[in-house]
Amino acid sequence: MKKTLSVSAIENGTVIDHITSGQTLRIIKMLRLLNKKLTVTVGFNLPSKRIGLKDLIKIENHALTDKEASEITVLAPEATINIIQKFDVVKKIITSLPPNISGLFQCPNQQCITQKEKIESFFSISQQSRQVKLVCKFCEKAYDRNEVKVAS
Ligand SMILES: [Zn+2]
Repeated sequence: MKKTLSVSAIENGTVIDHITSGQTLRIIKMLRLLNKKLTVTVGFNLPSKRIGLKDLIKIENHALTDKEASEITVLAPEATINIIQKFDVVKKIITSLPPNISGLFQCPNQQCITQKEKIESFFSISQQSRQVKLVCKFCEKAYDRNEVKVAS
């Protein structure tokens, strides 16, 4: 029997695989993929030997930059990112956490100056025993990745 893929292959673009379940919509928003009018195909809760259930995003005719790839790592540390040309993987981006991230997330602290004034957010990223923390430059509080909202 012929093996069928859950999500069909793309000719050119980027495949973000092994995304932690629950982070996919946030990643799409963070990368502004829909605003850019890109063709995006998403698979939710696909079986994965490595991480149980995974999500997957395919972006047609768009290669993610190394910076965007490292920003994804903040939300989905296990993600693997491949650049595809003519149905072949031409580049595997080795992701690593960025030292800091600006403008993409909102500080959840109601008292934080970034909530009151139009200031671009800025978080330092730190990792303590597999736990990623985002530390706001302005209120100096540390947040879990799921506590910060993706800025719209
Ligand atoms: Zn803050």
